Order: sequence, then C-alpha cells, then structure tokens
Amino acid sequence: MKLILLGPPGSGKGTQASLLGKKYNIPHLSTGDILRSKLNDKDALAMKLSEIMSSGNLVPDSILNPIVTEKLLSEDCKNGFILDGFPRNKSQSDFLLEFLEIKQIELNLIVNFTANTDTIKNRILERSKTENRSDDNIKAIETRLEKYFTETQPLADIFKDKFKGKFFEINAMQEISKIHYEIENRLKNA
Ligand code: ADP
Repeated sequence: MKLILLGPPGSGKGTQASLLGKKYNIPHLSTGDILRSKLNDKDALAMKLSEIMSSGNLVPDSILNPIVTEKLLSEDCKNGFILDGFPRNKSQSDFLLEFLEIKQIELNLIVNFTANTDTIKNRILERSKTENRSDDNIKAIETRLEKYFTETQPLADIFKDKFKGKFFEINAMQEISKIHYEIENRLKNA
C-alpha cells in the first residue's frame, strides 16, 4: 500500500494516516513530524528549522528532499508507506515524481483532502490548546494557509492528471470514521 495524502494543514491527514498505518502495518511518513523530531537535536540545523517552521514558512527543498528519499528507500517502507506533508510545492512534486519513476515505485492511491478555510483555522486553533506547536498561532496559521493555497493546492491537478483512477478527493469536513471508511473503500479497489 503506497499512498500520498494531499491537503491543507488541519485537514486531518495525520489522523487518517495513523489509522491507515496501524491497519496495514505501514509507516506514516509525516514530513512535519520528521522535521519536528529534528528540532530536539539543538544544533545549527535545528535552529534554522525552528525559525522557519514557527513562522509557518516552508523548509527548503534541499533539506527535505534527501530526508524523504532516504525514508522511502528504507527497509521500513518496503511494503508500503503513507506520505503526508510532501510534496508541498512544484519542485518537490517534480522531484518526487521523477524519484518514483526511477525507483519504479508504484503508488496505489493519492487522496486529496478538501476543507474550507474557516474549518481549518478552527481545527488548528483547537489543536493548539492540547499540542504545544510553535506554529499553531494565528499569524503562522495564516502563512501556512497562504503557502498551501499558492504552492500546494495547484499540485492536485498534476496528480489528478498523472494518476487517473488513483486520485480521489475527500471532503475532510466529515467525521473521522466516515473519511476513514471512504478511503478504505477506495483502497479495496486500488
Ligand atoms: P501542517 O500540515 O499542519 O501545516 P505539518 O506538521 O505538516 O503541519 O508541517 C509543519 C511545518 O513543517 C510546515 O509549516 C513547514 O514549515 C514544515 N514542512 C513540512 N513538510 C514540508 C515540506 N514538504 N516542505 C517544506 N516544509 C515542510
């Protein structure tokens, strides 16, 4: 099972990825989580990442691309993976598509989560009450959403064109169980 989850911040990709990961026993590769784990290193890279991430900006491709490919080639991902948070811009998308082609990695499903801006903002603000993320403040949320709409959302059309029949859009404002059920249904036919 090789999946890519696309969609805005706060749309519930992480929640669904973790449900699917447990069910199929495949790793959930969240670039946000991977980057956050690097912040604990407290080295020069961690300082740089912390500054970029807390403002809601995108981490440079030169840092992220090798991290993602190393993970995708690891033993853990041999039977599948759920990629969440990557690609986020056109150059990451070009890079990933070329990488998958060269390594002959076939995707089963690309799920594009859709939700309106108010729902997303509210969800992220709710989450900020329980999770201590430096980017869950209103200013960083605005920046992340702006990045999403200008850089990430246009990628959906590229994936839709390239992976006809494997691309599907889900209304992420539904209940968690309903979204999970719909993705499962699509996976059965993937
Ligand atoms: P969210 O989807 O809620 O914005 P994530 O946990 O996916 O949160 O990502 C948090 C931050 O990590 C992003 O705002 C960005 O700074 C960085 N990040 C994650 N994935 C990428 C990526 N593919 N390219 C650049 N930066 C990324």
